[in-house]
Amino acid sequence: MTRYADLHVHTFYSDSTFSPEEVMACAKDKGLDAIAICDHDSIDGIEPCQKIGRELGIEIIAGIELTVEKTDTEAHILGYVIDWKVDWFQNRLKELQAARVDRIYKMVERLKGFHIQMEPNDVFELAGKGSVGRLHLAQAMLRTGRIKNLKEAFDRYIGFGKPCYVPNMYFSSKEAIDIIRNVGGVPVLAHPDVMGNDAYIQEFIEYGLRGIEVYHTDHKPHVARHYEEIAKRFDLIVTGGSDCHGLGKGRVLMGGVRVPYELVEKLKNEARKIANDHR
Ligand code: AMP
Ligand code: ZN
Ligand code: FE
Ligand code: FE
Repeated sequence: MTRYADLHVHTFYSDSTFSPEEVMACAKDKGLDAIAICDHDSIDGIEPCQKIGRELGIEIIAGIELTVEKTDTEAHILGYVIDWKVDWFQNRLKELQAARVDRIYKMVERLKGFHIQMEPNDVFELAGKGSVGRLHLAQAMLRTGRIKNLKEAFDRYIGFGKPCYVPNMYFSSKEAIDIIRNVGGVPVLAHPDVMGNDAYIQEFIEYGLRGIEVYHTDHKPHVARHYEEIAKRFDLIVTGGSDCHGLGKGRVLMGGVRVPYELVEKLKNEARKIANDHR
């Protein structure tokens, strides 16, 4: 029987609504054999999911999702099989999380100029103890009744380049890729179609990118075929995941995108090589 993995799952330690218990119950329900926990700038979901995973017989791949700023877009870089216990890495993530808090104050202020009134605490409450982000902000905006849905929040106000958008703490692609490799992880470009500019892929490869998320909830079949070609051309490991945010995006996505377990083995082999290089 083929075993399957969903290699892109969030917890409430970033912007999913699901606790580790809910994430793991869902993974079991979907019949997954492995999932990768890839929270934005946080590793806090990994250990609790691993603990439950051991009881359920579901493997957890330790991951992270970092945000890189470009002039015309943002790129998300996933790190797989990371050595998440390293102190300097955890400290760096804390800095990124703190910068996210500042950014929310700024965006809440800008939204006031558009008559969308909120308190920063309304957003922080939605984030709980996790790293706060625009999905929480969009959820708080929805509660004001000034927008119809989450899409409107991004399309009109807080999407990249929109008037209330404030970038994350500046993080170059080289820095993000270096950090992942330095904790023995495999850097993989998340949802390249969402990034929307294939020209960056070669730059990332020069810095040490080793994989590309070909299969993703937001990738239609012809888009996935396009990135399959690119993966082949540049010898990148193919990955795929749902990018499940619990109910954070309205619908539970887990298992909707899954890949055969062999790809997990590939990631682990690559991580071994990277860890040796960086020792
Ligand atoms: P942040 O890390 O705070 O920049 O927020 C990133 C999250 O916002 C992503 O995980 C997406 O779920 C969501 N997001 C970003 N841009 C859009 C968009 N245009 N439409 C819907 N969701 C978006
Ligand atoms: Zn997210
Ligand atoms: Fe992402
Ligand atoms: Fe994600």
